Amino acid sequence: MSNNVVIICYIIAAVLFILSLGGLSNQATARRGNWYGIIGMLLALVAITMSDKVTGYGTLALAILPAVLIGGFLAARVKMTEMPQLVAILHSFVGAAAVLVGLSLQLDETTIPHEGIAGVIHNIEIYVGVCIGAITFTGSVVAFAKLQGLISGTPLLLPARHFLNLIALAATVWLGMEFISHGIIANPTTALLIAMVITGILGVHLVMAIGGADMPVVVSMLNSYSGWAAAAAGFMLGNNLLIIVGALVGSSGLILSLFMCKGMNRSLVSVILGGFGTGDSGGEPLHTPDGEVTSIESNATTTLLKNAKSVIIVPGYGMAVAQAQHTVAKITKKLRDNGTKVLFAIHPVAGRLPGHMNVLLAEANIPYDIVLELDEINHTFSDTDVVMVIGANDIVNPSALDDPNSPIAGMPVLEVWNAKDVIVMKRSMGTGYAGVGNPLFFNENTSMLFGDAGENVDAILAAL
Ligand code: NDP
Repeated sequence: MSNNVVIICYIIAAVLFILSLGGLSNQATARRGNWYGIIGMLLALVAITMSDKVTGYGTLALAILPAVLIGGFLAARVKMTEMPQLVAILHSFVGAAAVLVGLSLQLDETTIPHEGIAGVIHNIEIYVGVCIGAITFTGSVVAFAKLQGLISGTPLLLPARHFLNLIALAATVWLGMEFISHGIIANPTTALLIAMVITGILGVHLVMAIGGADMPVVVSMLNSYSGWAAAAAGFMLGNNLLIIVGALVGSSGLILSLFMCKGMNRSLVSVILGGFGTGDSGGEPLHTPDGEVTSIESNATTTLLKNAKSVIIVPGYGMAVAQAQHTVAKITKKLRDNGTKVLFAIHPVAGRLPGHMNVLLAEANIPYDIVLELDEINHTFSDTDVVMVIGANDIVNPSALDDPNSPIAGMPVLEVWNAKDVIVMKRSMGTGYAGVGNPLFFNENTSMLFGDAGENVDAILAAL
């Protein structure tokens, strides 16, 4: 394929990626956005494969085929609730790829050394690519391990951790100067390898220091890092499309992180520096929730729903586990046919990945116009007869507002307790992801419908 055709394919692919991001920003156009992305990526792959940069088709096939099979198999098998882990581990691959590209360019003796300023720029590309790649790789592996429950979600708070981070950062900058100017460390590869180890440790330390409740922001930050790592790889390989795609992923990941921070009322800097999810004051929560719990059966819940004029459904992680969304959609239809006003309230960090609940509700064909975000719906709870909380916990925890020592203090929550009646579906009195007790369960107007959410919504549908 001629170079000009490759460039045209790259331009079309870049436009498709931008259209894809635009499409993904809205539920109604998300499917189309996905297709733009898929077609753009296929076009990019075909163009680079047919270009004169690729000659060893046998080697390429050997590398790609097992990757396609393993990737396809894993993605097809993964449960929706395990998606964040998959995303985290995929980010780690981008980081590893940037490190490997950088190291191979550095070690490849057949590469003609760049002279003068071009040489300096080339070295900066390699150095930055390897460092960002190493942070992304180790940080994503730790995020994967935390989300998978392989290591504890409790933040690791080393004494003087900010100072340690600062030292690591200073050492990385100094090694970078050594790498380029061959000062005290005569062999630049040694400087690069030391920097790779230091930034790798920094990645582990940064993510280890982050508490459970902050993991959503970490996942989206690592998404952003992986974009910058890809862009760095694009610079190293002189591939414009990779630079564009990396910049798109990097900046959209950053915007998503800012949105998530806003949703949790945190500053990005405090999240990155870690320690979050431990309680801002570092003290014990002021109140340990206790008191009488009222439980309710599915039949009584059905009666409440039948008599209600307005119902708000709050889905959380438990609805995803129970895969209850399709039955919930049927219940919604029955209630609406009966003249009941039904709305869905979505918290920005509900579930285990950004947009998790929106994806589930879209999958069950719930109309988009009755699915509202936290700021759109929070004032409506006081005019609502029944709120049905399905497998949610942290996102409806009033201690986020009442208890300054709570690990989730300051996070905006769905103020469901203002409704006339609140039904909470969960299996036990157990805590949610942040590990915090929830006073909502002891409120007079709250009734607990214990059991698997899937079985309970089935029973409600049957009774309706
Ligand atoms: P939570 O984790 O706070 O609570 C989920 C609740 O669901 C649990 O208390 C559990 O209680 C219940 N549950 C689990 N399985 C079932 C089931 N089969 N049937 C009924 N109930 C069930 O989830 P939320 O959605 O309220 O909040 C999300 C939390 O996850 C936040 O702390 C957020 O910071 C964090 N997080 C979010 C990410 C994101 O990107 N959205 C990523 C990483 C973390 P029980 O065991 O008693 O049934």
